[in-house]
Amino acid sequence: MNTYARLPVTFVKGEGVWLWDDRGERYLDALSGVAVCGLGHCHPRLTKAICEQAGTLIHTSNLFHIEKQERLADRLTELSGMDNAFFCNSGAEANEAAIKLARLHGHNRGISLPTIIVMERSFHGRTMATLTASGNRKVQAGFEPLLSGFVRAPYNNMDAIAQVAANNKDVVAVLVEPFQGEGGVNIPEVHYLQELRHLCNQNDWLLMLDEVQSGIGRSGKWFAFQHSQIMPDVVTLAKGLGGGVAIGACLAKGIAAEVFKPGNHASTFGGNPLACAAAIETLKVIADERLLDHATRLGDFMRDRLRDQLADVAGVVQVRGQGLIIGVELAVSCGELVKKALEKKLLINVTSDKVIRLLPAFIMQRDEAEQVVDITCSLIKEFLNS
Ligand SMILES: *Cc1c(COP(=O)(O)O)cnc(C)c1O
Repeated sequence: MNTYARLPVTFVKGEGVWLWDDRGERYLDALSGVAVCGLGHCHPRLTKAICEQAGTLIHTSNLFHIEKQERLADRLTELSGMDNAFFCNSGAEANEAAIKLARLHGHNRGISLPTIIVMERSFHGRTMATLTASGNRKVQAGFEPLLSGFVRAPYNNMDAIAQVAANNKDVVAVLVEPFQGEGGVNIPEVHYLQELRHLCNQNDWLLMLDEVQSGIGRSGKWFAFQHSQIMPDVVTLAKGLGGGVAIGACLAKGIAAEVFKPGNHASTFGGNPLACAAAIETLKVIADERLLDHATRLGDFMRDRLRDQLADVAGVVQVRGQGLIIGVELAVSCGELVKKALEKKLLINVTSDKVIRLLPAFIMQRDEAEQVVDITCSLIKEFLNS
């Protein structure tokens, strides 16, 4: 179907941060399949784990115990401090699980029209519930009627949420991204999650974090909430979890971990041995190669270098980010930069119309990062001066 405005390139091979098209041209990848391929392309250990699992057992269904799924759940709960996990195949599905969990939790507490607070400029996916939760008219337009049971507040604004709390007795949860990726690489105040945690405690709401983009190392920690010394009730994951193999997860803690009972929720493919083997190995490689520290240092290095080179460039609003998500906001629309970068054999992204977004693989080396920054800066300067 005509759902994508695709760029005119076909990639046929990948290795590390490099991609090759069908004419043999090589490209530097600062997009990582939109925050998916954290280990770069075809990391030998990931490829081996996938091949071995494919030769052993691919799928059985959740009618039975699945050893690899249990091991992955153990590892994710160990890394996050959460209690248990539900597995699915995408970010939207992980958020669907969280939304259903919050609604069921509300019903269990006698709230018949449970309501979830969601944020302006948020992105949670393209299913009906998750596009309703998303704070972006473009993803909603034409798909009305939207779902009921969501109220919206500005991101990074505690007063607005407190007002919602005062006016709505049906709120059961807050669903929020620790940083907004699609919404323009928006990094909230340092105490934002702590204050949200406090407000959720006061009102008996679940704090549900959409870490589909921010989780699994992207922020420089396993989970972005670990920058804030808080514990959420629900965390959703997908993008980077399988290193490129489709997998999503909804983690829960405490009372939230006890909400679903057999029959409440399910997925045919969710947590299959192949996807779980890929995720287990992805987590192992991140730990073994100390990629969290590397992501932190490399992200800081790239932001510093961008700020240096763009310091006196009129039309550059801000360089920001956390770990290996980097945003460069311009004063003008700059979507066309993606195509211009591709002509220079560099993959970047523009989101929210004016924000150049870089999502390098965690294995990117410093000289490669220098190339990304230098090409990006020359593109920005050319673009703003023309
Ligand atoms: C990408 C993304 C989603 C949707 O994930 P899909 O796998 O495309 O369904 C949800 N939330 C956030 C924060 C995302 O970045």
